[in-house]
Amino acid sequence: MKVAIVGIYHESNTFLPKPTALDDFKNGHLLKGDSIIEEYEKAHHELGGIIEVLKINDIEIIPLIYAEATPGGVITADTYDYLLNEVISSVQNVLPVDGIMVVPHGAGVSQKYRDMDGHWLSELRKLVGNDIPIIGTLDPHANVSKLMVNATNALVAYKTNPHVDQRAVGKEAAKIMVDTLAKRIIPKQVIRQFPLAISIEQQYTSAEPCISLYQYVHNFLKEDGVISVSVILGFPYADVAEMGSAVIIVADSEEKANRIALNVEEYVLNRKHDFVGDKKSVEEVLAEIPQHEKPILMLDMGDNIGGGSPGNSLVLLKGLEELGNTRSFVAIYDPEAVKICAANSLGSTFQLTINGDGDTYETEVTLVNIVSGKFTESTPRHGGQVNYDMGKTAVVKTKNKSTIMLTSLRIPPFSLQQLLSAGVEPLMQDVIVAKGVNAPIAAYGPVCGSIVQVNTPGYTQADMTLFEHKYRRKPLFPFENIA
Ligand SMILES: [Zn+2]
Repeated sequence: MKVAIVGIYHESNTFLPKPTALDDFKNGHLLKGDSIIEEYEKAHHELGGIIEVLKINDIEIIPLIYAEATPGGVITADTYDYLLNEVISSVQNVLPVDGIMVVPHGAGVSQKYRDMDGHWLSELRKLVGNDIPIIGTLDPHANVSKLMVNATNALVAYKTNPHVDQRAVGKEAAKIMVDTLAKRIIPKQVIRQFPLAISIEQQYTSAEPCISLYQYVHNFLKEDGVISVSVILGFPYADVAEMGSAVIIVADSEEKANRIALNVEEYVLNRKHDFVGDKKSVEEVLAEIPQHEKPILMLDMGDNIGGGSPGNSLVLLKGLEELGNTRSFVAIYDPEAVKICAANSLGSTFQLTINGDGDTYETEVTLVNIVSGKFTESTPRHGGQVNYDMGKTAVVKTKNKSTIMLTSLRIPPFSLQQLLSAGVEPLMQDVIVAKGVNAPIAAYGPVCGSIVQVNTPGYTQADMTLFEHKYRRKPLFPFENIA
C-alpha cells in the first residue's frame, strides 16, 4: 500500500491589509519530499502522528509537499497558484496511490478562493476520483465548509486549545486511513454548521464552556460505529461564508452521524450565551496588577500573532512603561529597531524608536543581547513546531523596568525557548506579555502565577462584532439574535 502526504496550512486573517506571500511560507516551512519526514517524524505535530501510524502498518509513505506560514493576511493569488500546482502535480507524478493524507488548517483564504482549503481538497478529489480515500486533520480554528467535507472521506480536528494533541490527532486520522484501506470501515462524514460564532477567549479547552462541551461530544464515541467527532470552534477573523462553529462526525452511517450532529447543535445553541465571554479593558488589567500572583501572563488578544496580527502593537508596552514600577517582558516585531540595535555595542545606552502599527514609542534603552533568533522546542506546545526562526533579535531594557525583545521575523509566542534562547529569565518578570489568546498558555502557563486576557485593540480584537463581515452566513449569533 502506498499513501501520499500533502498539506497547505494557513490561518488567513482577511482584515489585515498585508497579504501572505511565498516568502512567508519560505520563512515558515515549505518542505518537499523526505525533508517533511526529517522535520516532523519526532515532532508533536499531526505529521509526526501520521508518519508513525503509517510506518507501523507497513504502508509506504510518499511525502510530497507541506507548506505552512505564520498566520497572516490573505494568501496572494500567485502564491496559492504555486502551492496548488505543487500539490496537484506532485500527486499526479506518483499515481497510482492507495490513499492520500491531507493536512489543511481549515481557515485558509486566498485572493482568488475564499474557501481555499475547500478548493485545493476538491482539486485533489477531481484528480484521483472517488475511489481513493482522502483523509486528514484540521485545526479547530477552521471555518469548515461543505466543500472540504465533500472532498474528503474523514477530517479529524485537534481536541485541545492550546493545541497540544496534534500528534495524537495525526495518529487518529492515519488509523482511519489504515482501517479504510484494510476495508474494516467505510467512513461516512457529515458536517453541521451552527448559527453561532464562538468568541476567541471562550475557546480555551481547559475551562468552561469548552470542558463540558468536549465531554458531551466525546461521549458519542462510546456508540457503536462512531469513528470520530470533531468540534470546530471557528476563526472569527476570516470574512468567509463558512465563518463560525460546526461539528464534523465520521461514522458508519450517515443517518447516525446526522443525528449526533443535531444533538451537538442543540447542546451548543442552548448554551449560546456562554460562548460570548467577558472582555477586560487595558485600564482594568493594568490596575489589577498588584492583586495577581507574579509573573502575570498578560495575553494581548488584539495583537494575536497566531491569529494573523502583526505582533507590533505598543498598547500594553506603553501602559506598562507608564506604570514605571513593573518588571515587564514584551516582544515586538520590529526589523528596523533590530538594525539600529545591531549597530550599537552590547551594554551601551541610546535613544530608540520602536515602530508599532501606525504609532511609535521612543525611549532610552540599554542593549543587553543580540542573538540569531533560531531556537528549537522539544515539548508538546501549540503548533507542534520544532524549529523556530525569529530572525536577528535584540533584547533591550528601559529605565521603567521593561525588557523588550525586538525580532526581525514575526513569530507567535508558542515556546518559552523564545525567551530562554535570548537570555531572558521568565521568573524575573512581574508581567510577561504574550501576543495571543489561549495558545501561549501551553508554554507560559507553567511558569506564570496568573493568567489575564486583555481586550486590546487590533486585527484580532476579541469582540468580533466590531469587524465588518460581508460574506459570513446569517443569522449568526452574537451578530444576530437566534431563536
Ligand atoms: Zn488553532
